Amino acid sequence: MATDALGRRVDYLRISVTDRCNLRCVYCMPAEGVVWKPHAEILNPEEIAHFAALAAEQGIGRIRLTGGEPLVRASILDLIRRLRETRGIEAIALTTNGTLLPKFAPALREAGLQRVNISLDSLDAEEYARITRGGNLGHALAGIAAALDAGFDPVKVNVVVVRSLGQNLDGFARMTLDRPLHVRFIEFMPVGAVPEAAEHPSCSVTSWSRDDVVPADEILAAISAWGVKQGIGALLPAEADAPGGWGPARYHRFAGAPGTIGIISPLSEHFCAKCSRLRLTADGKLRPCLFSDLEFDAREALRAGDDERVRVLIAMALRHKPGSHGERIGTRRHMSQIGG
Ligand code: SAM
Ligand code: SF4
Repeated sequence: MATDALGRRVDYLRISVTDRCNLRCVYCMPAEGVVWKPHAEILNPEEIAHFAALAAEQGIGRIRLTGGEPLVRASILDLIRRLRETRGIEAIALTTNGTLLPKFAPALREAGLQRVNISLDSLDAEEYARITRGGNLGHALAGIAAALDAGFDPVKVNVVVVRSLGQNLDGFARMTLDRPLHVRFIEFMPVGAVPEAAEHPSCSVTSWSRDDVVPADEILAAISAWGVKQGIGALLPAEADAPGGWGPARYHRFAGAPGTIGIISPLSEHFCAKCSRLRLTADGKLRPCLFSDLEFDAREALRAGDDERVRVLIAMALRHKPGSHGERIGTRRHMSQIGG
């Protein structure tokens, strides 16, 4: 079992399989985009699976594949098959914008993927196109339907709430009433260089501002009030029968609804004390914390065939996992580069 210096059990590895994406969400990437890493710098499926096997040896056996958009990586199915056959890997999940799921969902399931999180920030086609800078809402909704049809369980929908975007969240609440969809509202996080992060002036800036963070309690109150207005009643805690999660979401549901409403609030409620994860970037850097720029170069050790060095780097990442992200604002890399 892997534990960090503070005694936290670490059993969850988020792997970014690519820094590339078919969308350009306003809160994730700067308007001018980011410079993609050259292919030679990106880990191949064999290298990723080998790293995951060495992490699994130490009890880090739950894997989430993310990016960038993981489904634009041509070798994604090959990678999932490799991971499925790796000793010690207990479960494989994927976070995606969903637009390519209509094409891939059955094959992903067959390859061994178990859980899917789909990111969707608006149910209004024009607003969705604006937020994603060109995305097609119909493709994302078809992706959600394809995930349910393919038998993924649970299927979660991640909604980043940004005050100045003025998203209408009622439709997301309605989504949980007739399908087993687990909608999670996520506070907007200061990842990627922000104006306050003056120590990294060379970074292109994303649009984060404190005023744009809608605290968890405000979101829950608004959704609950919607339920009351609809005659469904207020939200009820759903902790006991919430969908099994690997992260810090708190779940609620409307009476009798097959789906749930979750809240992920890294800013208004620190959950660092329960953090159980490490991150591997697409270019093979091991990060102990999303909000810290500390990284360990696993790629070099992997390419040198030096397993012992990789094990040492995992141990170092565990030892240097911060106790808390504090009030840190801004990171050197954007979310799409780190792997959200
Ligand atoms: N492209 C995939 C997707 O959109 O699901 C996977 C990568 S994306 C970086 C992973 C998650 O990070 C998404 O749910 C996205 O909404 C979230 N995300 C990106 N930037 C964020 C930010 N600044 N604050 C909160 N969540 C963010
Ligand atoms: Fe791409 Fe996901 Fe970032 Fe949107 S949130 S730009 S889909 S990586």
